[in-house]
Amino acid sequence: MAQQFDIMPIQQWAKPFSHPFVIAGPCSAEGEEQVFETVKQIVKNTDKVSLLRAGIWKPRTRPNSFEGVGEIGLPWIKNAGKAVGLPVCVEVANPQHVELALKNEIDVLWIGARTTVSPFNVQDIADALKGVDIPVLIKNPVNPDIELWVGAVERIKAAGIKKLAVIHRGFSSYEKTAYRNPPMWEIPIELRRRFPEVPIIVDPSHMGGTRDMIYTLSQQGLDMGFEGLMIESHINPDKAWSDAKQQVTPERLGEILKALIVRKPRFIGDNFQALNDLRARIDRIDDYIIELLCERMGISEEIGELKKSQELAIHQAERWSQIVKRALQKGKTGGLTDEFILKMFQQIHNESIYHQSKVMEKN
Ligand code: PEP
Ligand code: MN
Repeated sequence: MAQQFDIMPIQQWAKPFSHPFVIAGPCSAEGEEQVFETVKQIVKNTDKVSLLRAGIWKPRTRPNSFEGVGEIGLPWIKNAGKAVGLPVCVEVANPQHVELALKNEIDVLWIGARTTVSPFNVQDIADALKGVDIPVLIKNPVNPDIELWVGAVERIKAAGIKKLAVIHRGFSSYEKTAYRNPPMWEIPIELRRRFPEVPIIVDPSHMGGTRDMIYTLSQQGLDMGFEGLMIESHINPDKAWSDAKQQVTPERLGEILKALIVRKPRFIGDNFQALNDLRARIDRIDDYIIELLCERMGISEEIGELKKSQELAIHQAERWSQIVKRALQKGKTGGLTDEFILKMFQQIHNESIYHQSKVMEKN
């Protein structure tokens, strides 16, 4: 069941706001100039960005990589944001980061994928946020474990944060894939089912790991009806100190945002009644399908009784071939694909066998 969750929609706390809600900026703040120039170029190339980002403390998988400039970078991003009139966000991984970010008037915080995996760390951050009114974005954990993600949302929510959204940045997998972090869309879709009010922002940069995948992944995210995008952008991506391959120039960012087809996330408009009527008809048909299936299983059980009395095997190959043949023919006349009919009847057949074996087991 979906949980009732008192969350403020992004449009109520974000200024400016446009749909989709776009966050952009460099993976890492590297220097005052780099941050300032990137931000300036972003607003020059697009008016679709509502929030700026820059990583200040970088959680690196291996030591001896660039671990972020630290506290010194906080005023760089804050001032760059002020100069162009946009709010800014940084990643926080512990209470000290929270404290420094708040001291430097950072507008929004995000919790990174390597932090969401640790309930201890998430709880420490939640405790540091008690009594603070700031929006918090929670990235999914690195591993495909929805409960860790849900747990982090619950912990931050319990700290009193109502301006809350999640960021879907894909999940790591042991197998080599075309993605850096395969999207596994079914996981954010399940999160949406459980918490319909929690806005979902898609991060195509960390998902794809290469800049040429950003457009397609962004479009897929919008097609799922998700609310926003977080895209890494750098004035000189190839020279970036972290995540060089997945960052785009502000110019390219502008092109990508312009090319995206934005559809309404929820149905609004005059035809709402018509849509509801059609959905009510679908619900009635679904009920009817289930009732018919129950009736069919009842008959299967009667057949099971007969087979039992005749000591006949449950599965009769010839009869099964006949059923499939009839169904494929009938389905074709109504425009249903063979693949669908076959899969559906395989499932129905499995359920029938299950019901008949129950009959056979009974003494
Ligand atoms: C980032 O946003 O730069 C980052 C470190 O992302 P993630 O936590 O998704 O790996
Ligand atoms: Mn990054």
